[in-house]
Amino acid sequence: MQSQRQAVDFGYLPRRGRIILEATGASSRPDVNSGEHSARDTPREEQKVIPAPFDYHRPRTLDEAIALLAAHDEAARIVAGGHSLIPMMKLRLAAPEHLIDLQDVAELRRIGGDGPALVIGAMTSQQEVIASALLAAKCPILRETALQIADPQVRALGTIGGNVANGDPGNDMPAVMMALDAHYRVKGPDGAREVAARDFYLGSFDTALKPGEILTAIVIPAPPEGHGYAYEKQKRKIGDYATAAAAVILTVAQGRCTAASVALTNVAPTPLFVAASGQALVGTRFETSAVAEAVRHATTLAHPAADQRGPAEFRTHVAGVMVRRAIERAKARAA
Ligand code: FAD
Repeated sequence: MQSQRQAVDFGYLPRRGRIILEATGASSRPDVNSGEHSARDTPREEQKVIPAPFDYHRPRTLDEAIALLAAHDEAARIVAGGHSLIPMMKLRLAAPEHLIDLQDVAELRRIGGDGPALVIGAMTSQQEVIASALLAAKCPILRETALQIADPQVRALGTIGGNVANGDPGNDMPAVMMALDAHYRVKGPDGAREVAARDFYLGSFDTALKPGEILTAIVIPAPPEGHGYAYEKQKRKIGDYATAAAAVILTVAQGRCTAASVALTNVAPTPLFVAASGQALVGTRFETSAVAEAVRHATTLAHPAADQRGPAEFRTHVAGVMVRRAIERAKARAA
């Protein structure tokens, strides 16, 4: 087949640089880390493993990075850990002309407290999240989730900011941030602002980040001491994205649920916050009917695509199983 190049709109082109997709009818949600995209969808002679040429920039401050992004506009792209972006570039699904690497921007790499909130800098690696005693004590679902992402090599470089800013519905942290009611701090040429995780995801690879903005930190209201939590993820093998996954945060007093939030990974074009599932639990003693109602709300909202992980009905069913397990485990952990 003759190689035909065309620009393909994944919904975020104007914001994040030019994406080129070989015109071969590839799926709209590229599963770049599975190896299945290139093998299945792209004729052998068109498979690429070398990124298109680009200029590499390594700013030392956030303001410098923002200025570089503004200077190169749509031709530029931020690179953090590179574990989502570089595979896309190797497959020529992304072809930024300027890569702005945030590795040397020290102000983006921190874990700390800000009053009752926890603040995690965007360039904090997933491994640093796992190793943080503060996060393990105050918000242990982050460690539990990070341990289920990919493998140690990916977690050593992959960042929490990249994971939540990427906009891939398969990323695990966004649903957890929704369940925790986290906010994202972003900064761009027009200044700084905060966006709730629950409002951030607009579509597959489409987020509320405006052109030129960089996600700088995640602010998490620390859940109350003794809260229950669980991240349940069904995957085909170690290192795989979820067939479906569920995050649950809840509090219990005298056996009765006083607050609950539920969110889902990889069962829609965006992570899903399922407000109705939490509401179905509040005020109950987790009776069978209450848990069934929470599961029902989650599976009603889920609308996964059929993919190599299974048909849509199966993945919806798995989402329900994950929600049920996460509620049970979170309840058992609540003091
Ligand atoms: P990058 O790849 O550098 O960037 C990703 C995107 O986010 C790019 O568009 C970039 O421009 C943008 N970006 C990055 N940082 C910022 C910022 N601060 N502000 C604005 N935009 C930014 N992830 C999971 O969640 N679960 C998995 O099971 C999983 N399995 C994986 C398996 C393999 C084999 C691999 C290679 C990756 C896997 N990942 C998985 C993805 C991994 O967690 C990535 O590291 C993560 O998704 C992106 O983080 P990053 O720092 O590597 O971002």
